[in-house]
Amino acid sequence: MGCQMNVLDSELVSGQLRASGYTLVADAAEADVVLFNTCSVRDHAEQKVLSKLGALRRPKERRPHMVVGVIGCMAERDPDGIFSKMPHVDLICGPAELNKVPALIAEVQENRTRAIALAQSMSRKNTPLQRALEYDSVEALDLSRDPAPGRSIHQAYIRVQRGCDKFCTFCVVPFTRGPERSRPPSQIVAEAKMLADRGAREVTLIGQTVNSYVNQDEGRPVRLADLLAKVSGVGGIERVRFVTSYPGDFTDDIFEAMRDVPEVCEYLHLPAQSGSDAMLRRMRRQYSVSQYVELIDRARAYVPDIALASDFIVGFCGETPEDHEATMRLIERCRFKNIFVFKYSPRPGTTADKRDTDDVPEEVKRARNLELLALQESISLATNRGLIGRTVEVLVEGFSKAALKAQQAQQAQQAEQAQQAEQDQQAEQDQQAEQAEQAEQAEQAEQSRGEEVEQAQQEQQAHQAHQAHQAEQAEQAEQAEQAEQAEQSRGEEVGRPRSNQLVGRTRQDRIVVFPGQPRSNQLVGRTRQDRIVVFPGRPRHVGRFVNVRVTASTALTLHGTIINEPTPTPTSTDAREP
Ligand code: SF4
Repeated sequence: MGCQMNVLDSELVSGQLRASGYTLVADAAEADVVLFNTCSVRDHAEQKVLSKLGALRRPKERRPHMVVGVIGCMAERDPDGIFSKMPHVDLICGPAELNKVPALIAEVQENRTRAIALAQSMSRKNTPLQRALEYDSVEALDLSRDPAPGRSIHQAYIRVQRGCDKFCTFCVVPFTRGPERSRPPSQIVAEAKMLADRGAREVTLIGQTVNSYVNQDEGRPVRLADLLAKVSGVGGIERVRFVTSYPGDFTDDIFEAMRDVPEVCEYLHLPAQSGSDAMLRRMRRQYSVSQYVELIDRARAYVPDIALASDFIVGFCGETPEDHEATMRLIERCRFKNIFVFKYSPRPGTTADKRDTDDVPEEVKRARNLELLALQESISLATNRGLIGRTVEVLVEGFSKAALKAQQAQQAQQAEQAQQAEQDQQAEQDQQAEQAEQAEQAEQAEQSRGEEVEQAQQEQQAHQAHQAHQAEQAEQAEQAEQAEQAEQSRGEEVGRPRSNQLVGRTRQDRIVVFPGQPRSNQLVGRTRQDRIVVFPGRPRHVGRFVNVRVTASTALTLHGTIINEPTPTPTSTDAREP
């Protein structure tokens, strides 16, 4: 759970475990090792982890050899709290020590003891560049990257930076992920090449304050703008993005790269957090509202079709209705593509938690949250409607969620039909068998009756021997006729089929009907500006760029149809035609 860093960390840790012989299983209760990669940014995220850990208490009692571990930010922030609340946890590992996870698991298994790796002593004395040049043990984790065989990669994250030095007063990241360190550019480029060879067409460079990236290459400083150009030069990579940027450090060379390097996408995620200077100061954000607005204006001057996204916190300590209004005005002014809104929750150890009072009631936070979202929805809807009739280039990610649901429904329906057909066939066979049995019984009854008649005739003949008269013969004939009628009557009774109904349950109509295009064909992809587009297509489009004419929109999504397909230039087997 958590941010893109956690998504990538989870991929890397599972890659290392795969290399150690582990495989993924569907049910955590049946696994030998269960790891939770955690987020500490909000209390809600931590509560979710505790709830999931609690659910493993019984499975762990049943299978004591199971290793239960907590990795990531929550592990780094509160190891003692986790152990005291969840004594069945065996392993704790912070985000800077993840390369040690296989060894920690082995330690637990071999010695039946708890294993812990945290980076609490990490030094911040050096400058970011000095730190970047230091040997970085966790670099081994990124260098071990080996995407699962057979898995299609069209878009991939590449970590370019770890940690953060900003110490915004509400944020735990500087404590959990340590000081800011930038990875060597040569290793980032090598990773981009490896991903391109596996089929990646788009990469996103990730860092907590990615625009402050700095390292060296052959003695010369390399900043984010230089890195964007280097990664864009990797064959097969056609789109490059970067997240998340810190407004206080943004330099114009990055805008120039967005403008001049064709692969660099026109998308910028620039968290503002508040539209009030008083709040920004209390949050220790190192910019003012006017500086933020001026930065947005510069972005649009350099890159006119840029799409902007932002983050906001509502209900931060001391936030007044006027502060909230100022945030509303900033959103109206900047007209973002989308925003992420978070209700403030104090995080232990942060300055805000120690210094300020969480004094905005929960219902006020909730109302402000909804107000910002409603405002942004109206802006997004208007922007998206303006795109109707335009053609956008989309990198196809796969089937949409709606399509996957429709496909599952279709599969369930087909399975049900198959089951019904099997039952129908079985019922028919049963009926045939029953009829055959009944016919056999009728035949046996007929034979048996014939024997009875014969015996009766013999008896009558014996009787005739004693009474030799025609009247007696006539009586014998009458008896024979009665016997024949009884036989016919018996024959009718046993010859009627006992079963004239099919056996089986009534078939339920579960066909899912969609108006217009079948939803099961619906693909989803993104534009260069990170807009989500859904449209009907085929599996062979996945991983390709297609041009889509926009025909309708909602606040979150564009809808359209493919108007032409560029000639495929597959970079790996994943991208080829099936
Ligand atoms: S810039 Fe601020 S909010 Fe972002 S990770 Fe660093 S401390 Fe947290």
